Amino acid sequence: MIRLYDTMERRKRDFVPADPKRITMYVCGPTVYGRAHIGNARPAVVFDTLRRLIEHQYGAGSLTYARNVTDIDDKIIAAAEVEGVEPSVITERYERFYLEDMGALGVAPPDIAPHATAEIAPMVTMIATLVELGHAYEAEGHVLFAVASDKDYGVLSRRDREAMIAGARVEVAPYKRDPADFVLWKPSAEGVIGWDSPWGRGRPGWHIECSAMIAAHLGETIDIHGGGLDLIFPHHENEIAQSRCAHGRKPLARYWVHNGFVDMGAEKMSKSLGNVVTVDQLRKVHREEALRLALLSAHYRQPLAWTEALIAQAKATLDGLYRKVGDVEPGDVDRGVMDALRDDLNTPLALTRLMALNDPATIKSSGALLGLLSQTGEDWLKDRNPHVTVPLVGLSMTVHQGVIRAENHIEQKIAERAEAKANRDFGTADRIRDELAAEGVILEDGPGGTTWRRA
Ligand SMILES: [Zn+2]
Repeated sequence: MIRLYDTMERRKRDFVPADPKRITMYVCGPTVYGRAHIGNARPAVVFDTLRRLIEHQYGAGSLTYARNVTDIDDKIIAAAEVEGVEPSVITERYERFYLEDMGALGVAPPDIAPHATAEIAPMVTMIATLVELGHAYEAEGHVLFAVASDKDYGVLSRRDREAMIAGARVEVAPYKRDPADFVLWKPSAEGVIGWDSPWGRGRPGWHIECSAMIAAHLGETIDIHGGGLDLIFPHHENEIAQSRCAHGRKPLARYWVHNGFVDMGAEKMSKSLGNVVTVDQLRKVHREEALRLALLSAHYRQPLAWTEALIAQAKATLDGLYRKVGDVEPGDVDRGVMDALRDDLNTPLALTRLMALNDPATIKSSGALLGLLSQTGEDWLKDRNPHVTVPLVGLSMTVHQGVIRAENHIEQKIAERAEAKANRDFGTADRIRDELAAEGVILEDGPGGTTWRRA
């Protein structure tokens, strides 16, 4: 049994697909106007790993995985204007780069990759349905979703109204009935890309894209909807509202799975801080498989501090594993590695167990479940990869294992505290929090569950 932390219910739940022969998963994909940074790569690698686990558990072909490509957006239009080209020149270029970069990290393309510009008709149909049912209204060439018409709005993010309005950084436009209402369709000015619609020539808002494409390709209710924590509000909240109101209040997804952020050392990675590092830049100086392992070294819901030392540790771990596997054929997957992954994709624990294995065939097949050890030991250790590698001064497997062990200990304590809270044993919950605080680990309870950081 796979267990997943469901953001909707704020707890780990047994994963029971509606149809085990046709499991459906949708992950919000890239807006293609620039190179992907390492934060963008995290959901791609995390959900690729979940996909491998599901296909291992339920059989090849049991999962239909869709990841969209947002190829119409104001940032794309702006980038096209700067270069003096059609938006499609920008989007085709950066989609190609995205697939190259993710492929280098061992991420297989999804089964379905719907493009927004190719799916305008289902979006228009869904918007028209929402207008007809009184959940959306037209105003000055825009169509807006009427948040007040959905009594359950806010169910995923659990925000109150004021926080929602502040969080959405909404434009208070005079044509909006309510500042929280969001755009389903907006007018395109002369010379700007647009499509004909019942509300005039224009283009869709971002949120409706996912709702319409999920319904068109996977169905009205899917098993797993994934994405980064930053998408919970407003994007996923709005997807839920649109889909539920258009589909007779059926839920959009049965499990909501969100990954945490990548931080640059102690700082949050952001364009405004100027500390964004692209996958492309990293690929020039590091082994690609080491980047994947580094991304999987923390639990997917925890923040991941991206440092040179982390990548060097990942490379050292792979050196050790490749020395053990040589060129053997894969055998059976190790039960311990599998159990760790089944428990809400506990990749740090899975890696600890992988490193403790000694049988080469078991290491090879268990590594493959994490998307690792795809080469032969000889190829890896010869370093045929043209990339420069960072010297491993003062780093060793022992250091790496120590770090992972420490993280597991914290994860274990967080799980015990969650269980205590679920049993209304607040004394134990507080004691665990205080014990971790004494070790310099600060817990923070948030919408994606409990996260931790060092004091
Ligand atoms: Zn989406």
